[in-house]
Amino acid sequence: MSSNRPPFSFSMMVLLVDDQAIVAEAVRRSLAEVADLEFHYCQDPQRAVMLAQQLKPTVILQDLVMPGVDGLELLKQYRAHPALQTVPVIVLSTKEEPKVKAQAFELGANDYLVKLPDRVELVARVRYHSEAYISAKQRDEAFRALRESQHELAARNAALVTLNQQLEEATRAKSEFLANMSHEIRSPMNGVIGMTTLLLDTALNSEQRTFVETVRGCGESLLTIINDILDFSKIEAGRIELENHPYDLRHCVEEACELLSPKAVEKGLDLVVLVDPEMPAVVVGDVTRLRQVVVNLVANAVKFTAKGEVVVAVHATPAPNPAELILNFAVSDTGIGIPRDKQDRLFQSFSQVDSSTTRQYGGTGLGLAICKRLTELMGGKIWIDSDAGRGSTFHFTITVRQGVSEIPAWHRAPVALRGRTILLIEDSSAQRRLVAQCAGLWGLVVIEAASLAEGEARVQAAGPEQIDVVIVDGELLGENLVQGVGHVRQRLAIHAPVLLSTVRRPRAGEAVAFGADGMIVKPVRPALLLEAIVGTVAGGTAQEKRAPVASAFTETLASRLPLRILVADDNAINQMVALMLLNRLGYTADVAANGVEVIKAIDSKVYDLIFLDVRMPEMDGYEAARRICEKWAGDAAARPRIIAMTGNAMQGERERCLEAGMDDYLSKPVRIEELKALIKRWGAKN
Ligand code: ADP
Repeated sequence: MSSNRPPFSFSMMVLLVDDQAIVAEAVRRSLAEVADLEFHYCQDPQRAVMLAQQLKPTVILQDLVMPGVDGLELLKQYRAHPALQTVPVIVLSTKEEPKVKAQAFELGANDYLVKLPDRVELVARVRYHSEAYISAKQRDEAFRALRESQHELAARNAALVTLNQQLEEATRAKSEFLANMSHEIRSPMNGVIGMTTLLLDTALNSEQRTFVETVRGCGESLLTIINDILDFSKIEAGRIELENHPYDLRHCVEEACELLSPKAVEKGLDLVVLVDPEMPAVVVGDVTRLRQVVVNLVANAVKFTAKGEVVVAVHATPAPNPAELILNFAVSDTGIGIPRDKQDRLFQSFSQVDSSTTRQYGGTGLGLAICKRLTELMGGKIWIDSDAGRGSTFHFTITVRQGVSEIPAWHRAPVALRGRTILLIEDSSAQRRLVAQCAGLWGLVVIEAASLAEGEARVQAAGPEQIDVVIVDGELLGENLVQGVGHVRQRLAIHAPVLLSTVRRPRAGEAVAFGADGMIVKPVRPALLLEAIVGTVAGGTAQEKRAPVASAFTETLASRLPLRILVADDNAINQMVALMLLNRLGYTADVAANGVEVIKAIDSKVYDLIFLDVRMPEMDGYEAARRICEKWAGDAAARPRIIAMTGNAMQGERERCLEAGMDDYLSKPVRIEELKALIKRWGAKN
């Protein structure tokens, strides 16, 4: 029998309602061999409906003529009963009676058989109706479940929409909160860092100096953390928009390294920038974000390196689009390195190589995650090549548009310099590479030596008269540089001028250039290297040669670039910080406490540069900038340059300042290096 079973399993149940036990017995026998069938019999028609309701048969076999109750009447009752409405009913009649048959079908019977039906036919009909009934039941059940899950989905969807709205609201609130906090935290930090910087320039005993340095260090770390968190949340919220302006690539990288130079000096590390001389000088892209990535990687390299060097190398390769270029950066260090199995987590947010690193070096673990996202935004990628104990090289690329570049002036050296020979005594191979690269460009010959002893040997081999200038690494000369320089002259026994290349600057009371004929300040910039070599090699007596060097180290930025400056800030401490920082560069500036005072001041005096705080009472910086621009609407070139000074580092702030007519943007806390760079950038344009 089993081979005849339908493809899905169900179990049939037949309820026979008949007053004649003999009929029941015959039917039972007919159905007995069907394995998946359960048979029930009801002799008392009065109990039929109740029994059917209890048993839930898949087919009712209903006799028509019974004492007391008519079979057709029962049929009516089944159809009126909610639980039995759809149960198939096969009417059993004693004979073929068309009238009764029609009546039965009209009342809802599903089939009509004459007693006693043939066994095979009975089984087939029972099976057919049961199957139809069960699949209809299953279909209804499936529909019900579907409807239910549809309702559930709709309800969840509605909940999600509401949640999304709440999240958007929360994100907006968070951004606003961050913007406000950023301002609130940066303003006092400006006071802390600015004042400690100034304090460090006063007479302090060594204990006091340590305390102040600690305060400044803590302030700087706090600021880095605030900046990282802000940046990261901006990137996560997709709120970073890239700028597209022409910029000087070498300058950007050198500026970034100069910011970190004091840290590198403190640790005795060589920090070298090697930009391929073939690179176009000017490219178009987002200089601020590039500087941020470079600063981040160089800061890490300096942080995780105890001795040796940190080298930033840049070269360009063609991009698929000929109007674009791919810039390839490599920041290498000779530090602790990163084990291979830890490298895949590096670029994830909040991840540090191990917790002991965190304890030893601090940090949020956000820097590299930010770098990764920024380089990707700039059309590039970032990866690492490192091993524990072997140092690290972080590579990254970005895509930029080609700019209109001229060949930089320092690429061409005076003819008088061609063919001259430099003796370079320098232990850092990267520094030697940098000088050799430049010298090649200028047609100079370089004799390289990694130590003083090697230099001595080289001089003897080449003949002392062959050397036109000696460049010596100050870090090889010990604590007392004046003595060291004397020692070099004596040991080499040559008359060629000696150029001292060092990270140290002479302090008040120390000999100018430590007694050398000139100084090259590290990190070495090719333009300044050329200036120093030209200054010492190209003619003049020793005395004359020393004079310009002397002035170069005593003159201030203000004496080279005299400017009339106005500072506007409503906060008295911030006013003082700005004035004193400017003072350190040799400038005496006027002060205004709000926009109204700025407008008054420019009506009565001519200024070249105005530093404008954006949030001020009475009239804010944006409005003041707009009014200044209006005043010079006819002659924009004569207008004082306006630089925003703001604690608000959120996205759009820079754009907002530029839209108001300001020329540039300086975020608080103001750092003297950045201030200097800005003055150079805008002061020179007046
Ligand atoms: P943090 O702000 O903690 O420095 P980063 O994302 O910049 O976060 O760096 C994550 C971790 O990667 C660091 O904590 C350090 O363990 C490791 N790391 C990054 N740069 C270097 C490097 N140049 N040498 C060794 N380890 C590094």
